[in-house]
Amino acid sequence: MTETTSAVLMDGTAVARRIVEQATADAAALKAVTGVTPCLATVLVGADPASVTYVRMKQSRSAKAGIDSRHVELPESATTAELVAVLTELSEDSRVHGILLQHPVPAHIDERAAFEAIAPEKDVDGVTMHSFAAMAFGEPGFASATPGGIMRLLEAYSVELAGKHAVVVGRSPILGKPVGMLLLARDATVTYCHSKTADLASLTRQADVLVAAVGKPRFLTGDAVKPGAVVIDAGYNPGNVGDVDFDSAARTASLITPVPGGVGPMTIAVLLEQTVAAARRQLGRR
Ligand code: NAP
Repeated sequence: MTETTSAVLMDGTAVARRIVEQATADAAALKAVTGVTPCLATVLVGADPASVTYVRMKQSRSAKAGIDSRHVELPESATTAELVAVLTELSEDSRVHGILLQHPVPAHIDERAAFEAIAPEKDVDGVTMHSFAAMAFGEPGFASATPGGIMRLLEAYSVELAGKHAVVVGRSPILGKPVGMLLLARDATVTYCHSKTADLASLTRQADVLVAAVGKPRFLTGDAVKPGAVVIDAGYNPGNVGDVDFDSAARTASLITPVPGGVGPMTIAVLLEQTVAAARRQLGRR
């Protein structure tokens, strides 16, 4: 952070800690009543180093929260049919309450077919079409973990959304699209931007809430930020760099998420919270 920084930091680590503490207490209470420990299954295809790290991190955070892990690793050469078979088996296993397929899978695999093999009641990462539709229609279901985490962070900092202009840069099915839907559900006016958007900066400069979900290091700089905007950087690029140029954006924004320590910890917190919620529902306890 530079001396000229004026924005307040949105401390995702601290907010996530509170969510995980509650999930930990809920997991312990569920075990006390039912004798069952919530279990999250993680599935990894191939050995991409970043994916291996993410999966390990999710397992270790689960363990700290009193959530069991089941881990399945498939070789890079696995077929769509093999992956679907694993996910179907986990979906049918009553000892598993939540399932996470680490994204991205190797290019030859039909990722959508794999996601759809996850039973909706175990879709704690919110990647199935069922979860997406539930988010869009405002029906009960699991939010995509990162968009859900972003909304919890906005709530924790009492960011008013009704009537505000939210601009989301990125439209991926796991991040950009669902976060826009969740902002719309909170009565924001939402603009989606993507790689074909003309004059991107003229749109981002209108944003009261600007969400960067692009996957390009330091892509949005301070001159693309409206003075006083709330800036959410969902990006995570090699070297712990976000999609926002933090130093220049923080001079213009009123609130901003750091990378790391902003959206990242919120994603895992929501994943754990949703795993415990899934276990409660599957065990008939609301
Ligand atoms: P993605 O699937 O690659 O999507 C990137 C989006 O950015 C696409 O919609 C693309 O537009 C858009 N885009 C690319 N270049 C652009 C440009 N020049 N101008 C405007 N839009 C542009 O990525 P993703 O999975 O959504 O991830 C985005 C970022 O979030 C990455 O840095 C990723 O690491 C991070 N992430 C973080 C977490 C977390 O837990 N913190 C979780 C998931 C992802 P088109 O649709 O037109 O191609």
